[in-house]
Amino acid sequence: MNDELFSIFDTVKDAIIYLEGTKIKNSNVQAKKWGFKIDNDLLNIFTYEDIDSLVKNILKNKEYSIEQNIYFLSGSSKFCRINYNPKQNILLIEDRTEIQLLNKVKSDFISSLSHELRTPLSIAKGNTHILNDFLEEDKFKAYVSKISNSIDKIEKIISQLTMLSMAQLGNYVIKPEILDPNMLLQEVINDLNGKIKNKNVEVNIQCNAEYLNGDKFILYTILRNLISNAVKYSYENSEIKVIIDENQLIIKDNGIGIREEEKNRIFERFFRGNESVKYAKGSGLGLSVVKYFCEIANYRINFESKWMIGSEFIVKLKQI
Ligand code: ADP
Repeated sequence: MNDELFSIFDTVKDAIIYLEGTKIKNSNVQAKKWGFKIDNDLLNIFTYEDIDSLVKNILKNKEYSIEQNIYFLSGSSKFCRINYNPKQNILLIEDRTEIQLLNKVKSDFISSLSHELRTPLSIAKGNTHILNDFLEEDKFKAYVSKISNSIDKIEKIISQLTMLSMAQLGNYVIKPEILDPNMLLQEVINDLNGKIKNKNVEVNIQCNAEYLNGDKFILYTILRNLISNAVKYSYENSEIKVIIDENQLIIKDNGIGIREEEKNRIFERFFRGNESVKYAKGSGLGLSVVKYFCEIANYRINFESKWMIGSEFIVKLKQI
């Protein structure tokens, strides 16, 4: 690539480096500022934990992408996204130091906020129980029960928000393990037992997989949120089907369904369907948590739904 053509990249804020092997044949203004000068070798300019893989991929003409702290031999460091494109022999380095710092501030803020809120909330909840024991008049007991329900709701919102921010900011580290799907489902069903009984719905489970390979907390949260929605939005005395295969999870209900015009909004944070608000309690966070967990675990989620007939959510665990 000649100098004139390459100068197009001078306005770009990322470093763009044209390579021959690990030798720099051309670089834009930003790359030059960081020390990537023509005819130098990459390895004499910067280093990072995985630099061996970068070199291997360059020499084998293979695509490569990573986010890492990189160290310039001149003494500074940055948090960068590095991409190598073998077709054009271009190395692109994007400075993400500020974004990373901002994400850390956000994540620290949410985790300290939820930590600070949990203690006063559990004190308030404890006191509603004490108060309930002392009160005799049903009228007053009903007020206390309302306070207690509201506290439960705040606690749920906080825990969903914490999960969401963890997933969104990439702070969740996946721990894959071999899981017994029957045991996992049993835990979810036990957790939702009260809701299931109140609605008098029948949850039919068909487990075709001997084991699941995945992160327990992620699979549990996905199943819990989807089955909880199926119960919440089911008609009384109806049937819910949960099918677990090695490659997919299916949760099918015979409930109120999702209106056509709301279908593209259900994964939005805090979105609640018009009718759903009247039909069941909720925070509008459940599906966004599911969506983000699917993203970080590399699962795909789809759904089909007919208004007043029912919905089916499918999570593809492996890309076939
Ligand atoms: P919440 O259930 O707390 O409202 P979610 O994020 O879990 O929040 O879901 C968002 C919206 O998607 C719901 O308000 C509802 O309108 C719709 N929805 C989700 N699951 C179902 C379902 N199984 N049947 C009908 N509507 C659903």
